[in-house]
Amino acid sequence: MQNIFNFSAGPAMLPQEVMQQAQEELINWQGLGTSVMEVSHRGKPFIEVAEQAEADLRELLQIPANYTVLFMHGGGRAQFSAVPLNITKSSDLSQHLVTGQWSVGAEEEAQKFCRSSIVAKSKEIEGKMYVPKQDEWSIAEEPGYFHYCTNETVDGIEIDWVPKSQSGKVPIVADMSSNILSKPLNIEDFGIIYAGAQKNIGPSGLSVVIVRNDLIGFARKDTPAIFNYQLQAASGSMYNTPPTFSWYLAGLVFKWLKAQGGLTEIARVNQQKSQVLYKQIDATGFYSNNVHNEYRSKMNVTFKLSDESLNEVFLKQAESNGLVALKGHRAVGGMRASIYNAMPLAGAQALADFMKEFERKNG
Ligand SMILES: *Cc1c(COP(=O)(O)O)cnc(C)c1O
Repeated sequence: MQNIFNFSAGPAMLPQEVMQQAQEELINWQGLGTSVMEVSHRGKPFIEVAEQAEADLRELLQIPANYTVLFMHGGGRAQFSAVPLNITKSSDLSQHLVTGQWSVGAEEEAQKFCRSSIVAKSKEIEGKMYVPKQDEWSIAEEPGYFHYCTNETVDGIEIDWVPKSQSGKVPIVADMSSNILSKPLNIEDFGIIYAGAQKNIGPSGLSVVIVRNDLIGFARKDTPAIFNYQLQAASGSMYNTPPTFSWYLAGLVFKWLKAQGGLTEIARVNQQKSQVLYKQIDATGFYSNNVHNEYRSKMNVTFKLSDESLNEVFLKQAESNGLVALKGHRAVGGMRASIYNAMPLAGAQALADFMKEFERKNG
């Protein structure tokens, strides 16, 4: 049984039921006497798994028929390059909203393949990080695509509104690596959605890409074949050997999500989990969070102790209470509790209780 709560930002915890099922069928999958890792991706048993995973993902996210789902290699970052390679010419402009570490990374990578510009950056207003709304952006020219990150994993900033193209022609591209499947989405607001798997989907290395069909077929001639959306779409994401075990495990996670009641239900639990923690953070001045209420992440709750000399003790005692991986990203310091879909409410509650007790003893 689980005796720790793992708050790792990624690779992150997976649902316990999923891990148990994977363990039970690890060496004798579907009575075949082999693991799912040891069979051909082109054989019937694996094709069924692959197709079922896509069908379940489509059902969970209500993905319309004019969107293609790709299971690709290279995690989230591979798409930083794949997006410009597939939908721009080098003279095109990519436009970026920069709100933290990951959207910075996407913009820097795009610079290698096309021109790029930044419409706005997150900024501090009265000590709280805020994301400028679209009417505050500076836009000089219509870009080939617009890119943003819906949840900044390091900075704990989540954006719930979706930018709109004024002309209706600019594809909105979203890096959803750390909050995909955490709540219902309107897929039609987006041209391309992508996510590295290791936060809310499954093992690392896999990327899930949801791309509107009219954006497929424009890859540059020098695009590496495995990154080419058209080739991957035409081959059912099997242009080369896909990460089969990750795809299988993602399929188990999608089934688990359906059993939880789908995305409306998981969103309700995610809301509760984050509320429990932010309430504890806001209770007194002992802890603090530096994100404007509207942008507080429901997946990565960042916080600082007012007395940072207590950081080491906090982490040590948390760990001896079974609350692990709470150290904030090295770039921002402090603490970070990542509470993706797989984290039960009891985990968030246990952390909030620990924080309260720690404050009582040290406050
Ligand atoms: C983790 C993460 C990535 C990078 O994923 P890799 O699989 O390591 O390439 C990109 N974007 C966001 C928002 C992330 O959280």
